[in-house]
Amino acid sequence: MDCIFCKIIKGEIPSYTIYEDDIVKVFLDVNPVSNGHTLIVPKKHFTDIKDMDLETLTHIQKTVKELFPQYKEKLSCDGITLCQNNEYGQEVKHYHLHIIPRYENDNLKISTDLDKKDPKEIYEKLK
Ligand code: AMP
Repeated sequence: MDCIFCKIIKGEIPSYTIYEDDIVKVFLDVNPVSNGHTLIVPKKHFTDIKDMDLETLTHIQKTVKELFPQYKEKLSCDGITLCQNNEYGQEVKHYHLHIIPRYENDNLKISTDLDKKDPKEIYEKLK
């Protein structure tokens, strides 16, 4: 399979890997939206959240919890935002969780021109 993250995991493509264990590889995003933007990537190829197993998902969340203090300490960030794209908006079709360090007043936004619908209408659909 021609997957760029599988190649990074195998070491065929270089990466700035900051952490690695049997289940995940954690490396810097090549096109960061903030300083320290990092990706947590399972070593096994999953396309997105739909085919992920709970054990791997839990391990990824555990990894975030363990790494969080060092982002604060070493990058002096004020927080982190986690996000993970599925299908639309997902450029690389190998599951990855973005860790985006946040800095006070960084003004980072996902959507700036939201066509805001009535929350009741959304609630009726999702409940
Ligand atoms: P997504 O849109 O959620 O699929 O995000 C894919 C991310 O992978 C983007 O933020 C890219 O900048 C990042 N990316 C693509 N190729 C590489 C690479 N070779 N090394 C590190 N990050 C990459």
